[in-house]
Amino acid sequence: MRIARFVVDSDPMYGVVEGEPGSETVTVIHGDPFFNGVERTSVKHKLEDVRLLAPIIPRSKVIGVGRNYAEHAAELGNEVPAQPLLFLKPNTAVVGPGDPVVLPEFSEEVSFEAELCVVIGRICKDVPEERVDDVIFGYTCGNDLTARDVQKTELQWARAKGFDTSAPLGPWIETELDPDDLDVKGWLNGDLRQDGNTRDMIRSARELVSIVSQAFTLLPGDVIMTGTPAGVGLVSEGDRYEIEIEGIGRLSNPVVRR
Ligand code: MG
Repeated sequence: MRIARFVVDSDPMYGVVEGEPGSETVTVIHGDPFFNGVERTSVKHKLEDVRLLAPIIPRSKVIGVGRNYAEHAAELGNEVPAQPLLFLKPNTAVVGPGDPVVLPEFSEEVSFEAELCVVIGRICKDVPEERVDDVIFGYTCGNDLTARDVQKTELQWARAKGFDTSAPLGPWIETELDPDDLDVKGWLNGDLRQDGNTRDMIRSARELVSIVSQAFTLLPGDVIMTGTPAGVGLVSEGDRYEIEIEGIGRLSNPVVRR
């Protein structure tokens, strides 16, 4: 099931996206599916008539995982970390499909990173790997935008990876998906730049949920960005970066400088 968050006139709502590409509909559901489950109303819109929003604004956190694909670690001259390399992005970094990524003034080198994202559905802690499916709500696409110059000069990555608009998410959450063998692709202005598969992750999405939950209590709506495949590069004002993950959909964001 594809769960989207969107607006038609004013207040954000959740809905279920169905139908074939190009003729999808969104059926409004009652309230918040993270707490109420999915109960459909009788209201249905054409997908083209709604504006999609980030499918979730995490109430507490976005957790990032660094260097989780060997080829990507190597392309930036890094070793694969012996321990999982975790970092946090604030929920103020999250934007939705089509929203502009605003390049921060303090960086001249902002990079795109296409990533499979896990969305947590239940409060949990110390989840064994064989039980992580019980706490996962679903999966979405994300871009872990990174100020590469700042990342190289600052020991903490808070500024490099946490600036406003550095975490586009969407277009919706797919709740039925096996995360272990999915193509992850990214296009810069239409040119394919990233072409990976989640089977090449050093730690799988399920392993990561277990590992992350050893450090942090996870809350409904928390997001884990599972790392990016090789092919990362810089974005400039006027660019557009599009991410497609097999079985989920496509997330596209323009890049601006203010
Ligand atoms: Mg990343």
